[in-house]
Amino acid sequence: MDELTGELALVTGGSRGIGLGIAGALAEGGARVAVVGRDGERARSAAAALPGAGHHGFACDVADGDQVTALAAAVDEAMGGVSILVNNAGVTRDTLLLRMKDEDWDQVMDVNLRGAFLVTRAFSRGMMKRRAGVILNISSVVGLSGNAGQTNYAASKAGLLGFTRSLARELASRNIRCNAIAPGYIETDMTGALDEKQTAALMERIPMGRLGTPEDIAGVARFLAGPAARYITGQVFAVDGGMVM
Ligand code: NDP
Repeated sequence: MDELTGELALVTGGSRGIGLGIAGALAEGGARVAVVGRDGERARSAAAALPGAGHHGFACDVADGDQVTALAAAVDEAMGGVSILVNNAGVTRDTLLLRMKDEDWDQVMDVNLRGAFLVTRAFSRGMMKRRAGVILNISSVVGLSGNAGQTNYAASKAGLLGFTRSLARELASRNIRCNAIAPGYIETDMTGALDEKQTAALMERIPMGRLGTPEDIAGVARFLAGPAARYITGQVFAVDGGMVM
């Protein structure tokens, strides 16, 4: 099924992990994909390896307003107007509150929350003109439940949910849908290798008894980006094997 044929998707942090999985699923659905990451070489090779043709990779730090403005111009020139935007780029700087440095707080907020704002502002303009679009924000179950040692990260991910719902209300009349996915524990570079004790402790909290994969998230992203989700906006989907319910 090529339900996304004719669509142009942009995935921030699409060069690795969950973002790469989402880029792959959207490409399988028939979309052309713009893959964005700070490392341009990695973004370009990820784009080149996606199924189908017409994908491109771009270097951009989403926390930097000038780079985001330049990205919007470069994508428009090379590929055209973006119709599906996935705000996936994210970082962690985990530590307990009393040990948290200003930089730990600022860096996580700058990439996870300000980055989503900057990129959305840059690309929603075209969607509004065309009166069509889909925006997906990758939050986290930690944004719903909280997590000791992640006050900065959880605040940024909870912030994304308020951003998602407000945007959904603001853009619905222009036929732009905006939803969030809240992944549970997914095996990527971000989560790294767990020792046996950590894995056992995690399993106790996951009713489905396994960690998630980028593909578990990607399937939901493809559904939300496509016509089967045409009446869904302002929602958050936890994809976590039942961790938070
Ligand atoms: P990874 O660390 O594996 O990948 C992060 C991606 O984001 C890379 O492509 C990286 O590319 C890019 N990136 C990081 N910082 C920036 C930046 N400032 N500007 C542009 N791109 C950037 O992360 P995951 O795949 O694990 O996570 C993806 C998203 O899912 C994040 O938002 C994360 O918070 C969220 N999430 C992850 C969970 C998990 O268990 N893994 C659980 C819940 C949510 P480059 O280094 O080249 O910039």
